[in-house]
Amino acid sequence: ETQKETLGFQTEVKQLLHLMIHSLYSNKEIFLRELISNASDAVDKLRFEAVSNADLLSDDPNLRVRIGFDADAGTITIDDNGIGMNRDEAISNLGTIAKSGTAQFLEQLSGDQKKDSQLIGQFGVGFYSAFIVADKVTVETRRAGSEEAIRWESEGTGEFTIEAIDKASRGTSITLHLKEDGREFADNWRLRSLVSKYSDHISIPVEMLKVPMPEYDEEGNVKETSETEPTWEAVNSAKALWTRPRNEVSDEEYKEFYKHVSHDFQEPLKWSHNKVEGKLEYTSLLYIPAKAPQDLWNRDMLRGLKLYVQRVFIMDDAEAFLPPYMRFVKGVIDSNDLSLNVSREILQNDNAVDSMRSALTKRVLDMLSKMAKNDAETYQKFWDEFGNVLKEGPADDFGNKDKIAELLRFSTTHTDNAAQTESLKDYVERMAEDQDKIYYIYAENHNTAKNSPHLEVLRKKGYEVLLLSDRIDEWMMSSLREFDGKSFQDVTKGKLDIEVEESEEQKKEKEQKAEQMKPLLDRMKSVLEEKVTSVNSTDRLTNSPACLVVGEFDMGLQMRRLLEQAGQ
Ligand code: ADP
Ligand code: MG
Repeated sequence: ETQKETLGFQTEVKQLLHLMIHSLYSNKEIFLRELISNASDAVDKLRFEAVSNADLLSDDPNLRVRIGFDADAGTITIDDNGIGMNRDEAISNLGTIAKSGTAQFLEQLSGDQKKDSQLIGQFGVGFYSAFIVADKVTVETRRAGSEEAIRWESEGTGEFTIEAIDKASRGTSITLHLKEDGREFADNWRLRSLVSKYSDHISIPVEMLKVPMPEYDEEGNVKETSETEPTWEAVNSAKALWTRPRNEVSDEEYKEFYKHVSHDFQEPLKWSHNKVEGKLEYTSLLYIPAKAPQDLWNRDMLRGLKLYVQRVFIMDDAEAFLPPYMRFVKGVIDSNDLSLNVSREILQNDNAVDSMRSALTKRVLDMLSKMAKNDAETYQKFWDEFGNVLKEGPADDFGNKDKIAELLRFSTTHTDNAAQTESLKDYVERMAEDQDKIYYIYAENHNTAKNSPHLEVLRKKGYEVLLLSDRIDEWMMSSLREFDGKSFQDVTKGKLDIEVEESEEQKKEKEQKAEQMKPLLDRMKSVLEEKVTSVNSTDRLTNSPACLVVGEFDMGLQMRRLLEQAGQ
């Protein structure tokens, strides 16, 4: 009746599998974390679909993952009663579509076996990590609500097979046929300790069989009444991590949970876990990642928090809870006020969501302020990864402009270094007594900014200048306007109003010079007629012979280009 079909893996998947199989790695055990994580995701998806279709749950309502093993046969089975997969889903999810991180992962490989194997160990490679320990993987799965089930099988070499089977209940059962050097994992104690190490935070029970101790009578015979059937028992605490009190969750658990929700393989930089009670009731667990994802610069990248309503998973990437300039934040929000039927469209226009968004935005800003204050080194790491996204903040979120301004870091003439390390507060503290503005220059790159002739007079006066050269900087400065009561001044625009002290004599000398210069200036003006509005002598410069100035009310980028060229 059943026909077995053989299909090929996608190229990137093949590359990945090849690596898994042929590299040595220090961290084989992560396969279990990945497979349990998938089972838990599958159960979350089922719970969600069951909100509108309760029948999906009714025949098998106790959601769980079960881990079985057979030491003699050298197999481990991870069995869930989650959403399952139909034939097409199995083909695309387990073979032809590499998950988004795969290409990025492959790019990071150096070709050095030792280094790469470490990377594989850290990287959440998902389902394929099964092949770290297995030389054959069998997946039997049945989609909730469907009668049809399929078996997917592969030895991880270039292809997989797929065939129709009978399966009594919904969900997915994955059997790992262990390699010789993976057999150590088919062991009760080993599996239990791995579950507690990696999967304690998983919100459904991760069960293993418990073989009861036989009871004996006085003569030493096993009692007839004694329970001998093994029973399934939960090995993890099976409580959604964010529902537990903060002081009962260890750092290790927070970190593991981060990997689970973010699909990131590195540890987070910081997190903040809060339960809010009152008019609105919700729990949030927000993480700041350590590294920026590749698509961070795309304002449309998938972003946002994993949304739960009363512990029921609703959606990934719920972007309505944080503004776009906080798209680096990962985590979970669990609300008691929203409806289980909530959709993305509803989220966009919901008052409760609005209040949550402003509270969560404040929470993230506070988290960053605290980090900046108490742990400048970590904050600097954050800034180096995500600073340019935060720079979108003043324009995105006018209400929090001042808070965001405190978090900005700049390269300035104080250090003359391209590294963005100086805060506006530092700047203001260093301001000269007679200085009332915050000066900045924007150029295409740091060197152009740093060497601009426009800075000469400011350097002479001892006025610090912010050296801006990130694309986003111009946009940011157009919304910033002032900090701590001091306005920002572009040093290339208009009059600078900087008085350089001079004696009567110097003044006279200058007037004389200007008189002498007049014919030259007139001549220059006639030569440059079409290109400039006027040619003036200036005391703006101390070392360079000339520079171009943009009129106070001019903006043109074209002009700025010219100016930068002249600055070189
Ligand atoms: P990720 O979990 O990051 O999406 P994986 O490689 O771990 O990547 O899994 C790939 C996909 O395979 C999942 O997104 C899911 O669609 C599917 N999948 C894996 N395991 C299961 C499972 N136990 N039940 C249902 N679907 C699964
Ligand atoms: Mg996964």
